[in-house]
Amino acid sequence: MKVIVVGGVAGGMSAATRLRRLNEDAEIIVLEKGPYVSFANCGLPYHISGEIENREQLLVQTPEALKARYNLDIRTNHEVVEIHPEEKQVMVEHKQEVFAESYDALILSTGATPITPEIPGLSESQNVHTLRSIPDLDQIMENLSYQPENAVLIGAGFIGLEVAENLKKRDINVNIVEKAPQVLPPLDEEMAAFVKNELLEQDVNVSFSNSVAQFQDQGRKVILENGEQLTSDLTILSMGIQPESTIAQQAGLKTGMRGGIYVDENYQTSDPNIYAIGDAIIVKQQITGENTLIALASPANRQGRQVADSISGLARKNKGSIGTSIVRVFNLTAASTGLNERSVKQQNLSHSVIHVAGKDHASYYPGATDITLKLIFHPETGEIYGAQAVGQKGVDKRIDVLATAIKAGLTVMDLPELELSYSPPFGSAKDIVNMAGYTAMNIIEGESTSIQWYELEDAFAKGKVLIDVRNKAELAKGQFKNSLHIPLNELRDRLSELDKDQEYIVSCHTGLRSYIAERILTQNGYNVENLDGAFALYKTIR
Ligand code: FAD
Repeated sequence: MKVIVVGGVAGGMSAATRLRRLNEDAEIIVLEKGPYVSFANCGLPYHISGEIENREQLLVQTPEALKARYNLDIRTNHEVVEIHPEEKQVMVEHKQEVFAESYDALILSTGATPITPEIPGLSESQNVHTLRSIPDLDQIMENLSYQPENAVLIGAGFIGLEVAENLKKRDINVNIVEKAPQVLPPLDEEMAAFVKNELLEQDVNVSFSNSVAQFQDQGRKVILENGEQLTSDLTILSMGIQPESTIAQQAGLKTGMRGGIYVDENYQTSDPNIYAIGDAIIVKQQITGENTLIALASPANRQGRQVADSISGLARKNKGSIGTSIVRVFNLTAASTGLNERSVKQQNLSHSVIHVAGKDHASYYPGATDITLKLIFHPETGEIYGAQAVGQKGVDKRIDVLATAIKAGLTVMDLPELELSYSPPFGSAKDIVNMAGYTAMNIIEGESTSIQWYELEDAFAKGKVLIDVRNKAELAKGQFKNSLHIPLNELRDRLSELDKDQEYIVSCHTGLRSYIAERILTQNGYNVENLDGAFALYKTIR
C-alpha cells in the first residue's frame, strides 16, 4: 500500500505515524509545502514575547527524527499543486520543478488559510503579517527587531488576543480592530464582555464594529472604516481562517461551506481513494448533527489517527466534534464548549440559560478567585447544548468536565452527581459544575423562573420592579438603574411593603441570595423572577 499525506502538521503527521504503527510495510510519503513539519502552530504567539524562549522549542519533530522512528518519507518544500483522481496521482512542485507521484490512498490535511481580503495598500505594506507558520513567525520576529512602538491587530479572535498579550509583554502599544461588536466569537456577548474589560484593564484599546479600510504610507497608517487613523509599526491580520481546499476543489472533490471538503464517517471524500481531515473538512456538530467547520488541534489530531485506522481496515467512525476551546488573555482565561446561545437561537432550539458565579477553590482557602460559568440546555430534557466560563483559575477544569459531559450525553440532571476531586486548595465540596446542575434543575423543575440581562430594559418598560436584596454596604459598589432595596435578611419582615398584583424581579450580587428571595416571595404568593447572573453580570456588560 502506498499512502500520500498532504500537509505535515497536526492532522497529517498524526495520520502518517498511526499508519506506520499499523502497517510496517506501507510506503508512506508526507508532502509539506512549507519548510517544517510537525511544528507547534499553537505555540507560535508565545515566542513573540519570549515566553517560549527558543524558536527551536516550536519545532517539535524533524524529518530525520520521524524517518528514524517511523520510517516516513517526509518531503518538505514539496507543494501538491494538482490531484488527478482518475490516475491516482498528485502533481508535486519542488524547486520550481513539477513531478507526478502515484498513490493507493491520499490523505489531505491541508489545514486552513488566514482570511486576507483585498485591502488597498496591503501589497505595499511590509509590516503587515498573518500568523500561521514558522516563516510567518520569522517575519514577525524580524519586524520586532526594529523595536516597534505601536501594533495594530485586525480581528479579536483567539490568535489576535494571544498576539495582543504577547506584544504587550514587549511593551508595545496595542490597538485591536474588530468587525463584530464583541471579542472572541465562540463566546456570547456578556461572557466576552469580561474579556473586553480585561483588555481595557491591560491598556489594550479595542475598536468594535469597525475594520480596516486601507493601508497608507507602506502600512504605517491604518485607516479604519469609521475614518479613524491608527499608527502602526506592525500589523497582524487575524481576521479568521478558511479551509485550504484549493487542490481538492480543482480535482472536483465535493466541497461546501467556505470551501470545506465534504467527508463521510470514514473521512472519505467524494472520491473513495481520497481522504481528508483537520481544518480543511466540514464536520458534523455532534450536538445537532448540523454541518459546521471546527478548526481546532484536538479534532485534527483525533481525525488523523482515525483516518489511518479507517484506511487500515479498523472500524472507526467520526462521531463529529463539539468544539472546545480556551484562551488566556492576560490574567483571565476564557473557554467554551459546544453551542453558544447565539447559535442555539439561530437554530431555533428550545433552550434555557443560566449563569453561575463561584470560586475556583474553597472561598475560605487563600487565593480563591471568581469563575463565571454559563450553561445552555434544553428546558425539559436537560440536554446540555454548551457551556462557557471565564475566570482567573480553574476555568479549564470546569469546561473540560462539561465537554466530557456533552460528549458522553449527560444532562444537567447528571451534573450534581459528578464527584469531582476536592480539597480546599483545589475545589469546593459543591463545585461550580455541581452548582450549575442544581441551578439548571431548579429551572427545569419550575422552582425558579429566570430573566436574562438583555430582557431587563423591556421588563422595566412593562412596569416590573426590581428588588435588590444585597446588603446596604454592597450598594456602594454600584446599583441598578431602578430598584427597590430590601436586604435578604429583612425580606420576610417587610413582605407587607410588596404588592401581590405587581410583577417583581429579584437580584443580589451573584444570584444565590436572590434565588432564596425568589423562593420566599413565590411561596408567599408573589409574582417574581430571578435575574440570572445578577448584579455581577449586569455590571460587566454595562
Ligand atoms: P495544519 O496543522 O495547519 O497543517 C496543514 C499543513 O498543510 C500546513 O503546514 C500547510 O503548509 C500544508 N499544506 C497546505 N496545502 C498544501 C499543499 N497543497 N501541499 C503541501 N502541503 C500543503 N488550536 C487549538 O485547538 N488550540 C490552540 O491553542 C490553537 N492555537 C493556534 C495558534 C495559531 C497561531 C494557529 C495558526 C493555530 C492554532 N490552533 C489552535 C489551530 C490548530 O493549530 C489547527 O486546528 C490544527 O493545526 C489543524 O491541523 P491540520 O492538520 O488540519 O492543519
